[in-house]
Amino acid sequence: MRTFIYSLCVIIAVSIPTAMYSQTGPTRRVVIAADKVLDGKGHVLKNTRIVVEGSKIVAIDPKAGPVDYDLRGLTVLPGWIDAHAHVTWSFGKDGKNVGAGETTQEAAYRSAANAWATLMAGFTTIQSVGSPTDLPLRDAIARGELVGPRILTAVDPLMGRGERTGTPEEIRAFIRKQKLAGADVIKIFASQSIRQGGGMTLSQEQLNAACDEAKKQGLRSLVHAYKEAVRAATLAGCTQVEHGTLATNDDLKLMSQKGTYLDPQAGLVIENYLLNKDRYLGTPGYTEEGFAAMTKILPMNHDLVQRASKIPGLKIVFGTDAVAGAHGHNAEEFIDRVRDGKVDPMTAMVSANSLGAEAMGLADKIGSIAPGLQADIIALDGDPLADITAVRRVLFVMKGGVVYKNVAHRRR
Ligand SMILES: [Zn+2]
Repeated sequence: MRTFIYSLCVIIAVSIPTAMYSQTGPTRRVVIAADKVLDGKGHVLKNTRIVVEGSKIVAIDPKAGPVDYDLRGLTVLPGWIDAHAHVTWSFGKDGKNVGAGETTQEAAYRSAANAWATLMAGFTTIQSVGSPTDLPLRDAIARGELVGPRILTAVDPLMGRGERTGTPEEIRAFIRKQKLAGADVIKIFASQSIRQGGGMTLSQEQLNAACDEAKKQGLRSLVHAYKEAVRAATLAGCTQVEHGTLATNDDLKLMSQKGTYLDPQAGLVIENYLLNKDRYLGTPGYTEEGFAAMTKILPMNHDLVQRASKIPGLKIVFGTDAVAGAHGHNAEEFIDRVRDGKVDPMTAMVSANSLGAEAMGLADKIGSIAPGLQADIIALDGDPLADITAVRRVLFVMKGGVVYKNVAHRRR
């Protein structure tokens, strides 16, 4: 009986928050007035109103009223999607890099703080790639217990270690294990760190097995790949290439033909390492030689983004690779992409909206301002199409119909 009562309590505790305490309520109607809306697909809507009911957008109607949030004078757009972050990666008590694997109470609070900072910066969905510590954070946010972006996680990544990685059958078993552990996506390391030269760490056969098994399990595969590993991942039918540094134009054309997504980084991750050098130096994987290599890699990444954006049909998503120090500054990557990668601002926005959603298989749920989609809506002080630094000035954040930030009244 005690067990029965206990389980009943658990059921009630889990079901009440959404049923009774939801901040917007199941049917409350919210109207947002805006004079400039980027719809997430490359269009600009002028002088309109967005109608939200519960967690979803139900209409775009210039005549709707009464207005609950007046965002005229700002630029309104869908919440951004970061395809590649490491939200649980932080600096420890001594201020030094501790990576994403720490499971202390302090590390848990830091992860929650990173999630909060990311959402406040306008990112309503992120894909965190490569740590089991993402799981409890993802689930707490999904239950509405913690404030943060929607999180998709890869749990443990497949680390390429040459033959020691395992046979194709062992690799397939590893992929299935991640799915059972709750992975939303599979992360694969097919190259060494670029700081160590970026050589390939999986054979074509191993990569084929990994991405094929992911597909069989209904999961996407994201491959950390430089140089020749970019082509290998594309040939293996993997979903997306992360980083892609030193890919040739022929590799990029092949990706375009096969529909493989590219997730390059135009600057933030390296700028953040250089800015926080004393906090990283001497921690595992971060040496003086590595830092010297980074300053050389930065222009290579600018070059990659410039070349990639000229390849017809190549689908380039937005991923920051945010590690400790970069959470909440994810939007800096837009500025790098436009300023150093020579990408036009609208393309940069779409990469983190509808295209980012499409790459995650979530185009019918997020990434656009349209009826039927989640009400993930942000507003910027300024127009990013005219001045990309407006991405730093996020004044309003709504995720799933709930407003988490509204400082729009401070703008004048
Ligand atoms: Zn990464």
